[in-house]
Amino acid sequence: MKTKEEVLRLREEIIEVCLALLEKGLIVRTWGNISARLDEEHFLITPSGIKYKDLTPDMLPVVNIKDLSFEGDYKPSSELLVHRSIYQARSDAQFVIHTHQTYATCVGALGKKRLKGERKGEKVIYPVADYALPGTNKLSANIKAALIENSMAKSVIMSNHGSVSFGRDAAEAINEAVLLEKAAKSYIFKICKTDINYGIEEGFSSHLENGHIVYEKEGTPERIKQVHKAIYAKRPDVTYILHNKSKAIMTISRRVNHMKPLLDDFAQIIGTHIRIPTSDHAAIYIRSYINAVFAYNDGAFCLGNARDEAEAAAIILDKGCLAHIAVTRYGEGRFLSFFDCYKMNRNYRKNYSKLSNISV
Ligand SMILES: [Zn+2]
Repeated sequence: MKTKEEVLRLREEIIEVCLALLEKGLIVRTWGNISARLDEEHFLITPSGIKYKDLTPDMLPVVNIKDLSFEGDYKPSSELLVHRSIYQARSDAQFVIHTHQTYATCVGALGKKRLKGERKGEKVIYPVADYALPGTNKLSANIKAALIENSMAKSVIMSNHGSVSFGRDAAEAINEAVLLEKAAKSYIFKICKTDINYGIEEGFSSHLENGHIVYEKEGTPERIKQVHKAIYAKRPDVTYILHNKSKAIMTISRRVNHMKPLLDDFAQIIGTHIRIPTSDHAAIYIRSYINAVFAYNDGAFCLGNARDEAEAAAIILDKGCLAHIAVTRYGEGRFLSFFDCYKMNRNYRKNYSKLSNISV
């Protein structure tokens, strides 16, 4: 049984870990969640939808491992089943980190069963858990099965989604997530035969102000302005357009004619099927519920109704493009089914519009 002081320290530690993972780039925005075991039957976890910099120790709910009931004013992360599966499968797990870290996530799109890595000079195996929709018991069972088969593993790659790492304390869990990302990055660079770093390379963005288009950069070319105008005309729900010219997105914009989602967050936030023009003269594709508009050999315009939202789309599109390139170079991959994509996309829009009180 932990003392009151120990529990408070653990609450503080979870928040410190969130901030450390943001700084290391393993978590972007609030796309990840952290938990710590309190005792045999309970764990603390980050709440759903609160920015990490706004978190205070008292906001973390306590979850019952058996029945998932919780105590506290804030709802536990919707991914609490992922955490529970680790505590149930491994008694040595005291601290659990679930992230959508870029390279491990890309490895999880290849359809591989495991990834090899190294820990203190010794070889380690990172198992890949079979796919199931986020938040389902099936997903939790798949993670457990992967851990039972690989009893030495302290990280599991989750197909088409992300990864989960754990340890006897916070430092060990962070270290596991970092080592996994290192192994995944070197593997992705090897199969891609080039280094593709991730993120946003901003081109020409714009936003709407009182119904007028304001371009973020002076000297935005006329042909780009035409694209912005066409998007605002066809998508009344969009008020911010972020032009991302990252290496992965540029590669896709000149070589690919359509993309199907390889990753859950792509299906939720970008859309279920993206078409890409294949020449300078081809028309661009602007569709409802598709939040990326590609221009031939010129990156993609990522859509949102605030800078923040367009940025989210830009980051997720970039990771999705990197996964697409990795799958192409690897020669195979595991794509999400249209039905799963449709379901995730619709749920995301429904929940999102409820949260922000807008209808899209
Ligand atoms: Zn997740």
